[in-house]
Amino acid sequence: MSTTLAASASLKIAAGSIAVGLVVLAIKTLAWWMTGSVALFSDALESIVNVVAAVAALIAVYYAAQPADERHPYGHHKAEYFSAVLEGAMIIVAALVIFHAAWTAIQNPRPLDAPVEGLFVNWLASVINAVWCWVLISRGRKLRSPALVADGYHLLSDVVSSVGVTLGVLLAIVTGWHMLDPALAALVALNILWSGWKVMKGSLSGLLDEAVPDETLERIREIISHKASGAIEAHDLRTRHAGAVTFIEFHLVVDGQTTVADAHDICDRIEAAIRNEVSDARVTIHVEPEDKAKHKGVIVV
Ligand code: ZN
Ligand code: ZN
Repeated sequence: MSTTLAASASLKIAAGSIAVGLVVLAIKTLAWWMTGSVALFSDALESIVNVVAAVAALIAVYYAAQPADERHPYGHHKAEYFSAVLEGAMIIVAALVIFHAAWTAIQNPRPLDAPVEGLFVNWLASVINAVWCWVLISRGRKLRSPALVADGYHLLSDVVSSVGVTLGVLLAIVTGWHMLDPALAALVALNILWSGWKVMKGSLSGLLDEAVPDETLERIREIISHKASGAIEAHDLRTRHAGAVTFIEFHLVVDGQTTVADAHDICDRIEAAIRNEVSDARVTIHVEPEDKAKHKGVIVV
């Protein structure tokens, strides 16, 4: 699958997420309005976060797919991290609003209005969300997009928390214990904070140029070691991610008498082998004569 084709498929799915999110948001807001339940309010607020996050993701996917230009010679891949940081900030605001609503409800407990009808309406939203989860996860696997699969599982956790909330509100109605409603809302807020932290953590390591995972790093070392015949060693290997792109750079030590053309051939061979293994790799190699050898790092076999 080519990058542009995958990007256009991702754009369509992101647009679908916005449409589904708006419908679900409308239904959940109706359920909250019918019942006055703080737990259902928190559930609706979680949907707002999803809609705004989907809009931010759509803009980010579009911007990240733009080719490198004179002002952004390394491309626009990091745009994807911005949407995640925005999502994280919104999540914190949403959780604070829910905590405040739950606290107010604890101080003035009151029975819910039209609870069963409201719960039925809320369940309808969960069914729509569950169907969209299935679309995201199956399409994501087909397109080999970890981001889509992750979105699908994030939405699945929302469905699970929604079902938990409605069951809890039902229990509050049956037992007449009204405190259960704000208590559930506080639990939803904690769950929102937790998912926000996970989103933020991944983006922050991307913004801080975290290296590729150890297995990938080991694989890159093996490739250099086996494909660099004619060279002596490689050292100062550095890697970083920018969205879907992986930047890899290192020093390659060759015999000082090697011609520039021969050294360039070795570099091209290594670059091709790495690109075969690491998708969207951008490799930069600095060639040095043997007196620059550090006798550590990757020894060429
Ligand atoms: Zn060096
Ligand atoms: Zn070249």
